[in-house]
Amino acid sequence: MTTHDAVIVGAGFGGMGAAIQLDRLGIHDYVIVEREDDLGGTWHVNRYPGLAVDIASVTYSYSFEPNPHWSRVFAPGAELKRYAEHVADTYDLRRRMRFDTTVTGATWDAEEQRWQVGIAGGATLSARYLITATGFLSQPKAPDIPGIDAFAGTVVHSARWDDRVELAGKRAAIIGTGATAVQLIPELAARVAELTVYQRTPIWVVPKIDAPIPEPVRRLFALAPATQRAARLANSAALEALSVAGVLHYREARLLSKGVEALARAHLRAQVRDPATRRKLTPQYSFGCKRPTFSNSYYRTFNQPHVHLETTSIARVEPDAIVTADGRRTELDVLVLATGFDLWEANFPAVEIIGAGGRNLGKWWREQRFQAYAGLTVPHFPNLISLNSPYAYTGLSYFWTIETQMAHMARLLGELRRRGATTFDVTDEANRAFLDRMTEQLDSSVFYNGDCAGSRSYYFDPHGEAALLRPAPVVTSRREAERFPLDHYTFA
Ligand code: NAP
Repeated sequence: MTTHDAVIVGAGFGGMGAAIQLDRLGIHDYVIVEREDDLGGTWHVNRYPGLAVDIASVTYSYSFEPNPHWSRVFAPGAELKRYAEHVADTYDLRRRMRFDTTVTGATWDAEEQRWQVGIAGGATLSARYLITATGFLSQPKAPDIPGIDAFAGTVVHSARWDDRVELAGKRAAIIGTGATAVQLIPELAARVAELTVYQRTPIWVVPKIDAPIPEPVRRLFALAPATQRAARLANSAALEALSVAGVLHYREARLLSKGVEALARAHLRAQVRDPATRRKLTPQYSFGCKRPTFSNSYYRTFNQPHVHLETTSIARVEPDAIVTADGRRTELDVLVLATGFDLWEANFPAVEIIGAGGRNLGKWWREQRFQAYAGLTVPHFPNLISLNSPYAYTGLSYFWTIETQMAHMARLLGELRRRGATTFDVTDEANRAFLDRMTEQLDSSVFYNGDCAGSRSYYFDPHGEAALLRPAPVVTSRREAERFPLDHYTFA
């Protein structure tokens, strides 16, 4: 057994943010375990053609580590991966990382007051603190379609992209029309002979205001970081207005949402010639019920004669074809699955976690409700910081969530040290009050006031509650992280 002060599970931006915070707090004995063979999380795993960030890069990055070198307003995926490497090097995180290391589970050892973290094929790690940073969208989901395993051609999931897959001249199909497919479909269309897009639920797509960042602007960002901070502030304010008014206060600001829907419809009209195709691509649920996206190339792909939009449901896959419910067969060489991720079942939590008194986190969430105080800590799980918890996600850029959680960690672990204590545990009362407040605040949201019935949105948990996003402005979440009442925790 190896002992550390902390074990961090996951070497993506969340895990690296937590590591940077531990160092700032003077906790240097930690290890970051990662099941993949390199760091970067989403941005290491996803490498499909067309991959790019869809939150402007000035905002989608740590505020304390601005990158003046982004090549575009919305940087391509490879630049995010390089940025992750830069952060790991700058903050000396690599030597703490152990790749190809899968956690099998973690158990609170009440006697030792430590977490015992099982490692597949390796020695158990013992740690004072356990920080899980396993991501929200990290367990690729294959569709449960009869016959899919017997397909004789090539099958590739977007999150397991293989550049060796031969596309030129092939008959291809893609299942799914989420944010990934919106980026991937124009790229596939440019490479294959025939492309059939199997759409179950259309996605709202608004124009992407993207462009290369000219060299003089990049130089300005490098020489005068305040200019990049100003750009970040402006972009963040616009995103925040969209999320607070359009999603969280939908009841009061319905008109704004309707305006964005009108913009997306106008975008569709401007880009797609055929009215029947336009109808099929038009969502029948309110904007914001599920994650919308931005693209200037997605819609117009459907004008191309070799691209076919199929909305009849898939009955089965045969070794050489997809057969739809009306009996039509489409013969194929390559099948691309842009079917997303198993969010609630596989990721809450991503590994089995057994807390004090044998409480099993996954079971408890399923038997009770999905909940976590400040989207971060759970009663009866002492010294556990679970970054990917219900109500964790605050605002549209994931970096706001990460930095809010870093601020909470600073206050919590700083107080622990000040008291000379070894454990913290959030109280049942504080947790219940937080959950009640989240539930009440969601009352105004699009999730309960919009028409979300047909959206099939991963924002809703298996109980039907919109428990993923924290229904509060980022500034409020941040202020609470910096000032939460310390008696919300017990320290021992
Ligand atoms: P997703 O949004 O979950 O979309 C999955 C798609 O597959 C949906 O269209 C879904 O249809 C379809 N699907 C799943 N199972 C199916 C089945 N059995 N039969 C038919 N269709 C099926 O996944 P994603 O597109 O990979 O995106 C996931 C998230 O990643 C996004 O929401 C976003 O947060 C993030 N993302 C971000 C960026 C970025 O640039 N920052 C880019 C890509 C993705 P239904 O809708 O009917 O279920």
